[in-house]
Amino acid sequence: MTSAEAQDRIRQLRTEVSRHDELYYRNARPEISDFDYDRMRRELADLERAFPAEALAVGDESPTRRIGDDRAQGFVRARHASGMTTLENTYDEAELREFDARLVRVIGREPLEYTVEPKIDGASISLIYEQGRLVRAITRGDGEEGDDVTANVRTIRSLPQRLHASDGEAPVPEFVEIRGEIYLRFEEFNRINEEQDELGLERYANPRNLAAGTLKLLDPALVAERRLEVVLYGLGACRPATIVSSQVDWHRAVRAWGLPGLASVARARGIDEVLAAIRVLDSGRAGFPYATDGAVVKLNDFAQQREAGFRGEGERARKLSPRWACAYKFAPERAEALLRSITLQVGRTGVLTPVAELEPVQLAGTTVSRATLHNADEIARKDIREGDTVWVEKAGEIIPAVIGVNLVRRRPECVPYVFPTSCPACGAAVVRHEGEVAMRCPNPSCTVQVRRRVQHFASKACVDIEGLGEAMAETLVQRGWVRTVPDIYRLRRDDLLGLGKSVEKSTDKLLAAIETSKRAELWRFVHGLGIPHVGAAAAKDLAARFRSLEALAGATLGEFLDAKGGSLIAGIGETMARAIVGFFAEAGHRALVDGLLAAGVQPTAPEEKVVTGTALAGSTFVLTGTLPGLTREEATTLIEAAGGKVSGSVSKKTGYVLAGEEAGSKLEKARTLGVSVIDEAQFRALLAVERGEG
Ligand code: ZN
Repeated sequence: MTSAEAQDRIRQLRTEVSRHDELYYRNARPEISDFDYDRMRRELADLERAFPAEALAVGDESPTRRIGDDRAQGFVRARHASGMTTLENTYDEAELREFDARLVRVIGREPLEYTVEPKIDGASISLIYEQGRLVRAITRGDGEEGDDVTANVRTIRSLPQRLHASDGEAPVPEFVEIRGEIYLRFEEFNRINEEQDELGLERYANPRNLAAGTLKLLDPALVAERRLEVVLYGLGACRPATIVSSQVDWHRAVRAWGLPGLASVARARGIDEVLAAIRVLDSGRAGFPYATDGAVVKLNDFAQQREAGFRGEGERARKLSPRWACAYKFAPERAEALLRSITLQVGRTGVLTPVAELEPVQLAGTTVSRATLHNADEIARKDIREGDTVWVEKAGEIIPAVIGVNLVRRRPECVPYVFPTSCPACGAAVVRHEGEVAMRCPNPSCTVQVRRRVQHFASKACVDIEGLGEAMAETLVQRGWVRTVPDIYRLRRDDLLGLGKSVEKSTDKLLAAIETSKRAELWRFVHGLGIPHVGAAAAKDLAARFRSLEALAGATLGEFLDAKGGSLIAGIGETMARAIVGFFAEAGHRALVDGLLAAGVQPTAPEEKVVTGTALAGSTFVLTGTLPGLTREEATTLIEAAGGKVSGSVSKKTGYVLAGEEAGSKLEKARTLGVSVIDEAQFRALLAVERGEG
């Protein structure tokens, strides 16, 4: 390569890498796979090393010398007490051996002890606990300063707001920065994508992007609907600094304090044991609830970590990446397959999803013969044609997807794909609503739509009718016995017996299962109705609150949201609230509920939490202003858990007004009426007395 060529290539790669950094970190919408990105970034770093003068001639700013910046509009920025770095990564075992050899030289001892942890593919987060209480959550940002996303992180139900001290374990420090990843479980990711399909919206490419995008939503109630999770494994600044002295002890402390830590951390002596531990991790990672894309190898001993130090920019003395840790990444699970044809799948709301019918291929331990193509725009953008050789990728429990075409193998007879103009099931003309990417069959009586609604309702995740799977649902709909979901409860034994010889036993079993399902838990019915945005978790929240289908169907927006659009029910934000009210505003959906009840359905309401003999039981609270450490939803949940009620307006019957900053007219009214006004600290004290902690 000549000097001029090197300069050109460096310039080109810097532009490209910067563009992809922006797409990945700021927009959470990458266009290329991590593998391709890593390769591009590596090529740039190698060139800059081989041609330092040329690199400097292009300019002294390079994406290889900074950390991808995730900071977004609309958030307050906050500084990290100790900078957040990224890890050097490799796909190559030989480079991992070099990493060890270098450390052996620096530390002067052999073998070194390492930890091998799963590398979780999520969005980085730093949590600050002061005196054991969660006070702030900050994204990595540029490593020095990130976005304050505390309100969003507080919606994570598995994250304790307070660290628990336990005997014989590391004491809870005065101040600590705890680092980890925000992620989405595969099942939640799939649920949200199925919902995106049904709503006719673009699918999310992978759980990492969806988690990162969700963390940057400006409305915490929307964040709560998506059930983020967090896993914690890293230590930033800590006072006192000496509470633990190794990586292994740190993981133990994290779990002892009640935080969600890594499920397992392998300890390895010497590089051969490290490589063996990585292989064990790779073979077991399909069972993890989160996406992993590699293993992180760290020196176990903190004193040795300090000796090894950091890579960084000399003049600004800024830490870029630790020399004592390295990420070993697994190459993506990707395969080439012949795309035989593109078929359309009709969803329960009529969305037509194109599906790739593939020549079967082995991928991530399973045989894949179908993969999603998302939507018409996606097919056009990637110019995917029937007869093409395509790349298919699969990670964890995610539905396999076609990620691109191998153009080298395109045959001349392949023509661009034309999206059908009529529904393959009922022949209705396909429509596309404004602002949606999806094509739809607009016919609500379309047999496949009905079949899918019946299947969803009867599925394990809903009222769970054994024996009513895809095949039976199809038969029932084809025969005209089931036109709407409540028809399931009107099936006649004689009709079913007419289906063929020796069906008596299975018919009676099916009818018994249908009968049993009439008393299924309320949330199962709520989920089974197919309300947009409402998954199983939200259905449980709704069931706990409304306690009957009639109450839910008749609920007004005011029962979900306060005057400012704030959520009154934990887990149910504005989008969901509007979707629910909108759903039941349609006569057909109200008829669905009436039909179920007329057919003798008696959903089992969740057990009411009976709280008696406590000071809060029966007390009415009014919330006003912004509380320093609690969202409105959290305060409501705490009040209700203690047997109290929350009301929107102040009257003589009000027990307490819980007032935060910028409290308005409600506060004045409370004072006029002589109602007790308390702040968050007093409120917490009240709760502590409740629980006998005080
Ligand atoms: Zn149709």
